[in-house]
Amino acid sequence: MLQVEDNQTPNLDVLVRSEKILLLFRQSFPAAFVSISISALLTAILWPVQDHKLLLGWFLLLTLSSFLRLAIFRSYRQKSLPRANILAWEKPYFFSLMLSALIWGVGAVVIMPLDSPFHQAIIFYFLIGMSGGAISVYSAHRGMVLFAVACILFPAIAWMLWQGSLATVGMGIGALIFYASLVRATKVLSSTLHENFVMNYELKKANEFAERLARMDQLTGVYNRRAFYEQVAMLENHIERHKDIVTVIIMDLDHFKRINDEYGHAAGDAVLRHTGKLLQATTRKSDICARIGGEEFGLLLLSNTSDDAMILAEKLRHEIETTPISYNSDRLSVTSSFGIASGESNIEGLVMRADAAMYRAKKAGRNQIECE
Ligand code: GH3
Ligand code: MG
Ligand code: MG
Repeated sequence: MLQVEDNQTPNLDVLVRSEKILLLFRQSFPAAFVSISISALLTAILWPVQDHKLLLGWFLLLTLSSFLRLAIFRSYRQKSLPRANILAWEKPYFFSLMLSALIWGVGAVVIMPLDSPFHQAIIFYFLIGMSGGAISVYSAHRGMVLFAVACILFPAIAWMLWQGSLATVGMGIGALIFYASLVRATKVLSSTLHENFVMNYELKKANEFAERLARMDQLTGVYNRRAFYEQVAMLENHIERHKDIVTVIIMDLDHFKRINDEYGHAAGDAVLRHTGKLLQATTRKSDICARIGGEEFGLLLLSNTSDDAMILAEKLRHEIETTPISYNSDRLSVTSSFGIASGESNIEGLVMRADAAMYRAKKAGRNQIECE
């Protein structure tokens, strides 16, 4: 049955955080390969000036950590999770990223050739490059960027400052300034991204709400005519594929005009509202229930035989007849007439046949059910 309230939406903060993790995962696959390729390049450059075992050990560690990350991305991709559960992947993502970043940062100090300032500068240059890459890939998550870049840069910055020469201290200070501006820039970027996520989410919710409203009859709370015929078209495809049976019930209130004439239009509205509630309470969730005319309602029942539909229609007819509606000081009594048609194809045709059956019920004296 159509419901406008949505009580199961996880809170906005959780959704926005999940959106960010989703974005991180989407961008991370190539980043792991880039990390392996760049470390291979650096290993090759340092090959003539550094101990080979040390270089290979570092390269191997980095490759292993990148494969660990790829394994995490893969198992994440294989599970199609609801948005709110994506947060469970935040920690594995964070720790594996920190591991890679630390192997880059601490490893860079370990493989730093002590007697070649040129190669030291190259390593530093690579670290700045890796930091730039990290900023572009992980920018959706500010904490992640700042941690990752700190792990990549700080060991080498400390090493440079420790060396104490003008050139190394200068490089260290330059990198610190780079990091300080990164802290500021990511603040702006992340708050803009956050606002963007929130706006997107709210727009989506508003759209969904408008869509649902457009299919709902405001007075009775059931589907409207447009939604009814959309469902007819959808069911048409369904029964074609599943060879299912569909039953249509058309229900019309008897002498409804008299209620309006005797008690006023608002009283008539109260009767329609009551009828809508009754239909919602009596039908199953899988049944489609709509107001398709002024005081005319249509029901689409899937996998029901016309006998089941007869029982349902009789229940409704009886309820409507025996439950007077209190309106101000009056008690309004109404009756209703029903037409039923069942079949395995051409639901539009079934609607017309159920409608014709309903008119026969009217002709036969009203307050009754006609099943073709
Ligand atoms: P019958 O038993 O043959 O169906 O008679 P009836 O009076 O129910 O049918 P008729 O078609 O003559 O009149 C239907 C009335 O329903 C006329 C119209 O004013 C009224 N109506 C249609 N929509 C609404 C509505 O939204 N609110 C109210 N209060 N009345 C409505
Ligand atoms: Mg009527
Ligand atoms: Mg009518």
